[in-house]
Amino acid sequence: MAAITLKDINKTYGDGFRAVQDVNLEIADGEFVILVGPSGCGKSTLLRMIVGLEDITSGEMFIGGQRVNEKAPRDRNLSMVFQNYALYPHLTVYENIAFPLRLSKTPDKEVDERVRRAADLLELNEHLERKPANLSGGQRQRVAMGRAIVREAQAFLFDEPLSNLDAKLRGQMRTEISRLQKRLGITTVYVTHDQVEAMTLGDRVVVLRRGVVQQVATPRELYENP
Ligand code: ADP
Ligand code: ADP
Repeated sequence: MAAITLKDINKTYGDGFRAVQDVNLEIADGEFVILVGPSGCGKSTLLRMIVGLEDITSGEMFIGGQRVNEKAPRDRNLSMVFQNYALYPHLTVYENIAFPLRLSKTPDKEVDERVRRAADLLELNEHLERKPANLSGGQRQRVAMGRAIVREAQAFLFDEPLSNLDAKLRGQMRTEISRLQKRLGITTVYVTHDQVEAMTLGDRVVVLRRGVVQQVATPRELYENP
């Protein structure tokens, strides 16, 4: 069964602008899909519709076999990692990672186990008591990922998570994200305008242009037949 299915998805903004047009896509369980294309092609709009932060104008969307068109973001069981990390400055690394579990009133003992397991995977163990302001860019990005994985969601959604990092760190985090995704085996949709990320991270690449899917291919197919 597909983890995420998009059927004839369209988005027309209030001013009549068609940002996403007739998108059809099936994402398999555990698959890592990249949405790539130039600025303004509709990547964020599509991702926000999957998360539920943006209404679908027409079409149908299924997550884990369930129709989600009218479901609120919190009922979709997805984890999103944003470009700007969206960490809480007054909370420690521990509490930033624990945040989604606090919201769902998870018992303390389980919170502790899950936060430490996530911190282990992301090599954040030594930084759990620090505040975001005292972390490097790469560490902040890892805290944001920790908060995403601690929820054990159905899928990860990344919105250009590395675009605020310098080139060296970007390369490092690319490797980390790829390793983490394989290890967790979690379905992932990753938005980027970066060709290198598109060609190295995913199992499949969806090329968007002016709101339309232009190509769907493996990185290898794109490399051999650009
Ligand atoms: P990308 O993420 O690929 O840069 P977006 O999905 O942010 O693209 O935007 C796609 C197109 O839709 C752009 O032309 C953008 O200006 C337009 N757009 C995005 N949000 C709105 C909005 N709230 N109202 C009108 N147009 C919008
Ligand atoms: P990014 O390219 O980093 O995704 P944008 O600067 O395109 O971000 O968009 C930031 C916010 O502004 C988004 O919430 C988007 O919906 C909104 N937005 C983008 N383009 C327009 C537009 N033409 N009209 C109204 N809102 C827009």
